[in-house]
Order: sequence, then structure tokens, then C-alpha cells
Amino acid sequence: MTDAPRRWHAERAWLGAPGGSGGGLALDVLIEAHGDRFAAVTPDTPTDRLPPGTVRLPGLTLPGMANAHSHAFHRALRGSGVGDTFWTWRDRMYAVAERLDPDSYYALARAVYAEMALAGITCVGEFHYLHHGHGGARYSDPNEMGRLLIAAAAAAGLRITLLDTCYLAGGIEPGGVPRPLAGVQLRFGDGTAAGWAERVAGFGADAHGMAGPHARVGAAVHSVRAVPPDQVPVVMAWSHSRGAPVHAHLSEQPLENAECRAAFGATPAEVLFEAGAVGPRSTMVHATHLTEHDIELLGASQACVCMCPVTEADLADGVGPAPALAAAGCPLSLGSDGHSVIDLIEEARWMELSQRLVTRRRGHFTAGQLAQAATVSGHACLGWPDAGEIVPGAYADLVTVPLGGPRLAGAETGDPLGVLFAAGTAADVRHVVASGADVVRDGRHLLVDDVPGELAAAIRAVLR
Ligand SMILES: [Zn+2]
Repeated sequence: MTDAPRRWHAERAWLGAPGGSGGGLALDVLIEAHGDRFAAVTPDTPTDRLPPGTVRLPGLTLPGMANAHSHAFHRALRGSGVGDTFWTWRDRMYAVAERLDPDSYYALARAVYAEMALAGITCVGEFHYLHHGHGGARYSDPNEMGRLLIAAAAAAGLRITLLDTCYLAGGIEPGGVPRPLAGVQLRFGDGTAAGWAERVAGFGADAHGMAGPHARVGAAVHSVRAVPPDQVPVVMAWSHSRGAPVHAHLSEQPLENAECRAAFGATPAEVLFEAGAVGPRSTMVHATHLTEHDIELLGASQACVCMCPVTEADLADGVGPAPALAAAGCPLSLGSDGHSVIDLIEEARWMELSQRLVTRRRGHFTAGQLAQAATVSGHACLGWPDAGEIVPGAYADLVTVPLGGPRLAGAETGDPLGVLFAAGTAADVRHVVASGADVVRDGRHLLVDDVPGELAAAIRAVLR
């Protein structure tokens, strides 16, 4: 990052959904940044009036995208387990978790975050629960694993919200008795929510939750399966005292709902709501199998819902009621979760297409709404409300997609944003600026030389 002003000239830039504060698609946009923030945004600036040193960005430029739900190590499982159920897939995932140590996790996470940067992602929400060593033994720094994820994001040029996850139980028995953690789950647990809060306090984040210029610490309640309801208020008190975001997995699988009803006589959304975990700083991840009442609760609370449509398809979870949630008042964000692909353009496309398959109707979301989910809403739910928009004062993140490739050719004569979400992929992203610094130029990551090579080596090391 430099203090000298930087300038770009975007041939076309998406300046937010029209109707809100956004200006829609604008032409010939001169964009200036000082340090890590935008300073001025001026559409209709002819190319013969550009200040010297202005970088030209042909094609379509978007704000940086936010991957609101990531488990970095799941990347090692991409494409595996055809024929599995969610629960047998989880056993494979546990086997990878069992093998990871700080060195192998750092190498894998850095490569995965570099893959994200190449896909136009400038901020990741890492839902992190692999806290401890084998058998639950504490590292000398009990936050070592979280810290290395923060370092891995910096090394890959991304901002990160480390959603440090409270994970206390291996499930719930009928009647509500928590099952003790077993096997690899011992690496996830802090004993009690108070034990979780004590460990997380050791991060030394400031009063705003910042653990570095590019990193903030947030909280997560893993799920109703893993955190007894009487422990949730401790996590929420920690979050409220810092204004920190709180995320939770919600109703991803019908079995989770059935066990929750048997244990507490209520749905997971009702249990989390009663425990105080559902509010405007909360993000519910998946929200696949909801009742009408669940949707009302989430909407009235203005909780964000993070859809992970490709993972939900990959794991045969089902299709969540995204349009009904949006209509009820929930902002929507997107995550690549298990990383069966890392491509928020495709996640956005599937948020719309999955609804078409279920309802046999088209047009549930506009391209502007999809872009909003991938950018500004994603950043906001990770505690960065000042990112994901090309406006003065926001973090200077830019993602440029040229329109000359085979998938997007012709888009400039119609609706380029619509064509991007209909046919574009992460592979179309050519330039990425994050926090004012170039991270990807001409499709090449500037901080990590050989992203595929590092991914292959890191995955080989944990699948050996
Ligand atoms: Zn998840």
C-alpha cells in the first residue's frame, strides 16, 4: 500500500444497485484512491483528460467481492466423496482436520486465499473452529491456528474476518442433553462458552475488533448441534461488547432440524432467536430448511442470510428460500463454504438458477441484486460496512472483468452485468485491487507466484 494517490479509469463500472445509494452501470469512470480508501469517483471522464499515471481498466469493473463463508481446509476435499451423504462427507472432512498442523494449515490457507484473490474476492469470512492440537491439547499460544489464518490472508492480499467459532458439543440428545466431543472434535472445543471467550480475548484485538489493518475478529456459534442454548448468551455478550459480527450455521440438513425439535421442541431458528443470537449483526449460514415462522423471525430481526448455493448443491442439502428471506427483510450474502468451487459469480448465478428449478419461474433476483450480495452485503455481514462499493471513503477494492473473452463477448452492447452473472466465471477476472494495492494483474497473483502449484502441494501434504 502506498500513500501516493492512485488512479484508475474504468471503461464500465458498476456503482451499486440503482434505487439505493448506487448509480448503476456508469461509463468512463475515473476512480481515485488515497492509501487504502477511495477518494473520488467521477463518471463520464473522457480518456483524453486523464491525469498522468492513470491505469486503464477495459471491460467491466466491480467493487471487491466478499466470500462470507469459508472453511479454508475443506478445499482439500474438492470433487471427492461422490456417493456420500452430508454425514459421510463430514467424516472425510474430519479426517483432513485430524491431519492438519499449524505449518500445513498455513500453507493450505495461503494457497486457498490466493485462489480467492484470483477470483476477485477481496475479503473472506473464515468460519474457524480448528483451534487446538491433537486430542484438544492447547498450543503454547491457544490462538495459534486463528493467527496463522490471519497471516495467510495477509500473504494472499485479502482482508479477513476471523469468525472464531464456539464449538462445545458433538450433538444433542432427545431432551436436550449435549453429547460430549469425541475424536477430532476435541480439537474444536473450549469446554464452555466462557472458556471460548477467554481464549478469544487473547487475540488482543482493539476495541473495534481489529487484529491488524486487514483483519477483524468476529464470533460464530457453530450450530444448534454444537452449542447448547444456555451457552449462546455468553458468545452474544462478547459480540455486543465489541460490535462484532456473529455467524451461525442454520438448518442445513433436515436431520439437524429433527434432532433440534426432539431436543428442544423448537426449530433451530427459534432456538437461536430465543437465545438472543438473531439480530442485525448476525448472519445465518445456509438457512435451507426453514418454516414460515423461521422466515418471519429472521426477517423481523434483519439478520443477514449467507447462501452457499454450490456447496448446498454439492452436499445435496436442498434449496433455501432466498427470495422469501429477502422479501422478509434479510440482506443476502454469498459464500463458497466447502470450496467445491471458489467462484462468487457462479454462487450468485446458482442463487437465481436454483430458484428457477424449484419454482419453474424466472427472475427472482436482478443482476444488480446478485452483485449486491457478492459485494456490499457480503462485506457488511463480515463487519466491513465501509467496503464493497465504489464510493469515496470505502476500501479501495476493484475487480475487473474484460468483456472480450468467448463467454462474455457481445456483453457491451446489452447488459454487461446481466451477461456476467449469466455466463461469467472466476476465470474471467483479470485485475484485482484490494485495500488500494494491486493483488492480481493480468490474471497473475502478484504475491503468490504459483497458486496452482502451492494448492497442489498443500493438498498433497494433507491427503498423503
Ligand atoms: Zn460452513
